[in-house]
Amino acid sequence: MHIVVCIKQVPDSAQIRVHPVTNTIMRQGVPTIINPYDLFALEAALELRDKFGGEVTVLTMGPPSAEDSLRKALTFGADRAVLLTDRFFAGADTLATTYALATAIRKIGDTYGAPDIIFTGKQTIDGDTAQVGPGIAKRLDLLQLTYVARIGALDLDARTIEAERRSEGGVQILRTRLPCLITMLEATNEIRRGAMKDALRAARATIVKWSAQDAGVEDIAKCGLRGSPTIVKKVFAPPPRAEKAALIDFGSRSPAEALIEDIFKRQPKLEAELVTLARGF
Ligand SMILES: Cc1cc2nc3c(=O)[nH]c(=O)nc-3n(C[C@H](O)[C@H](O)[C@H](O)COP(=O)(O)OP(=O)(O)OC[C@H]3O[C@@H](n4cnc5c(N)ncnc54)[C@H](O)[C@@H]3O)c2cc1C
Repeated sequence: MHIVVCIKQVPDSAQIRVHPVTNTIMRQGVPTIINPYDLFALEAALELRDKFGGEVTVLTMGPPSAEDSLRKALTFGADRAVLLTDRFFAGADTLATTYALATAIRKIGDTYGAPDIIFTGKQTIDGDTAQVGPGIAKRLDLLQLTYVARIGALDLDARTIEAERRSEGGVQILRTRLPCLITMLEATNEIRRGAMKDALRAARATIVKWSAQDAGVEDIAKCGLRGSPTIVKKVFAPPPRAEKAALIDFGSRSPAEALIEDIFKRQPKLEAELVTLARGF
């Protein structure tokens, strides 16, 4: 079995600030991490590999410094790492990102064996769009399971996989055919501690580095800024709320009564409006 996990190196959002004048994200000096959702995806892939055999390839598109995240993924136990890096990929929106990643996944398939499962995180903590997983699935014509919190049964003979998908108001148990693409939520699993042998292997490992040409990109105009119709016009921090928390003394009243009285006190016209509305029914 061959599993590909797409990981993105992102700035540690706990340390990000927005420039007060230009409203741009201040990335200088901000440490980078593997996007947290991608770690849940990687752990799910490693658990399947440990149980059923096969290989896990991690893939990222990013600047040369993204090699650090790939090496980290190798310390967790991934078998191979591919870095897609080229000046032509710079400034990519989700359309251009999915074009480049889908092309690289095809090349990974041709070089190391066709993937049975492709994992992505649900979304990143910087771009935050959650479009890249479904975009890759569309470009590769794959079935997709999104918002997955847990992987269930995998049957390699029947070539099916079951997964728990979290949806509003419940959990869906879904089964689909392989090959497929899965986008992972924060899950019940947690990324393992890397074993010493994997840390040593990761330190010595050769990261496969592909340019656009190496990856087999056919239309360079679909990559990077040139291939990106998205324009982010403004980025800003939401203004702090003026409203402060209120302390309500329940006294001898029930909490519900006290809350309703407080709401009516703060919005004097509301009670009359509700009465008028109720008369209309
Ligand atoms: C503030 C801000 C402004 C931006 N402005 C622009 C702009 O003006 N023009 C422009 O073209 N682009 C811009 N970008 C970049 C771009 O929109 C996205 O960062 C990029 O396309 C990936 O989308 P995403 O981060 O929303 O991924 P999501 O769709 O949220 O990611 C889902 C999953 O896909 C996988 N994935 C995503 N990206 C990669 C990757 N590079 N390598 C491997 N796997 C990946 C991961 O598994 C991830 O968990 C901007 C980004 C930010 C944060």
